[in-house]
Amino acid sequence: MARIVMKFGGTSVADLDRIHVVARHVKREVDAGHEVAVVVSAMAGKTNELVGWVEKMPTVAGAGASFYDAREYDAIVASGEQVTSGLLAIALQSMNVDARSWQGWQIALKTDSTHGAARIDSIDGDRLIERMSQGQVAVVAGFQGIGPDGRIATLGRGGSDTSAVAIAAAVKADRCDIYTDVDGVYTTDPRIEPKARRLPRVTFEEMLEMASLGAKVLQVRSVELAMTQGVRTFVRSSFEDPDAPGMGDFENPPGTLICDEDEIVEQETVTGIAYAKEEAQISLRRVADRPGVSAAIFGPLADANINVDMIVQNISEDGAATDMTFTVPSGDLERAVTILEETKGTVGFDAIQSEAGLTKVSVIGIGMRSHTGVAATAFKAMADRNINIRAITTSEIKISILIDGAYTELAVRSLHAAYGLDRK
Ligand code: ADP
Ligand code: ASP
Ligand code: MG
Repeated sequence: MARIVMKFGGTSVADLDRIHVVARHVKREVDAGHEVAVVVSAMAGKTNELVGWVEKMPTVAGAGASFYDAREYDAIVASGEQVTSGLLAIALQSMNVDARSWQGWQIALKTDSTHGAARIDSIDGDRLIERMSQGQVAVVAGFQGIGPDGRIATLGRGGSDTSAVAIAAAVKADRCDIYTDVDGVYTTDPRIEPKARRLPRVTFEEMLEMASLGAKVLQVRSVELAMTQGVRTFVRSSFEDPDAPGMGDFENPPGTLICDEDEIVEQETVTGIAYAKEEAQISLRRVADRPGVSAAIFGPLADANINVDMIVQNISEDGAATDMTFTVPSGDLERAVTILEETKGTVGFDAIQSEAGLTKVSVIGIGMRSHTGVAATAFKAMADRNINIRAITTSEIKISILIDGAYTELAVRSLHAAYGLDRK
């Protein structure tokens, strides 16, 4: 007998039929004698709809920022998970599986005060363990917890993955299964490259990079938590027959295991390609070249919670001024430019140029640590397709390239082929 946390994403609980299929997956594990906690997302598209409603609301004049009240945003967008947790509990009960739904505040999943992108501080695992040991399935609403102000707080988009891994750590689960609409982690998004291959295993480090560089199959924080808490995490499909052979295999369930490097026998140089659309580039022309300038530019952007990514600073030819180029999410471009214009007096620059609609494509692999020429292959692949590279950043295990958004698919496929990742 083991303890398993099973998480089901939006497409897996998209309607009542799908919720019944999910219930059958859960029943399979219960019938095998395991203790089970389930984490659910909202129905596919629901959270987008809720966010859309909030964004259409008028903002409060004089609130300091032209932004809605984040506590009310959370109260609204967390509601999708309340519905699916209740529906799944009923579906399980109808199959004679003892089940009860739990909201974030009830279990209690406590978060910090960053409404809209809260981090988990603690979870009362003992109460869940007690329920589970009585044979009751706990169906937990993902994506939400309770902040220090006693109000609902959400964990950022895609946050149910993080709820699941955190709950798995809190109840000391033997496994955390993330069920989604693909049967594992692929060499790249299978939706844009049908030749992508499923990876039987992927290291925590690579998964962390893939997730932070755009592969939304797992939320970044869920991977961080799985890594630091040692949670055995599988990505697998809810769209397969729940009772097909092997689905209940405890040691080797179908899917992708996220694991330590030493659990991987043959490590490729490059493991995958990720992409992030909707990037924007900002260039500051002729910035004064003196100490403190970067702090004066990036400090106010950080204070406004704008995530600055790739940064390129040119050498200054005359020793007096230089150009500074960096990227921000397209959605933050307008705010960023406004803030930068306000700093013009203290920083001192000639002009701001900006462009939205760009894409960052990234090549990821821990094998890069010990292989040379990996970056050159990427540059050649872009050159062969006549794709212009706007900026480059690298780390030990990844290379990221900024390109025009129109070339996203072409760039991903070209890189995928250039590193021999295509399905044979
Ligand atoms: P869920 O609603 O189950 O949380 P998501 O839509 O958040 O599902 O994540 C699953 C999706 O992630 C897949 O449908 C796929 O298009 C996308 N994806 C992006 N990159 C990858 C990858 N490398 N491997 C698998 N899926 C990927
Ligand atoms: N429903 C939330 C979202 O769409 C959380 C999740 O799906 O993980 O972001
Ligand atoms: Mg998701």
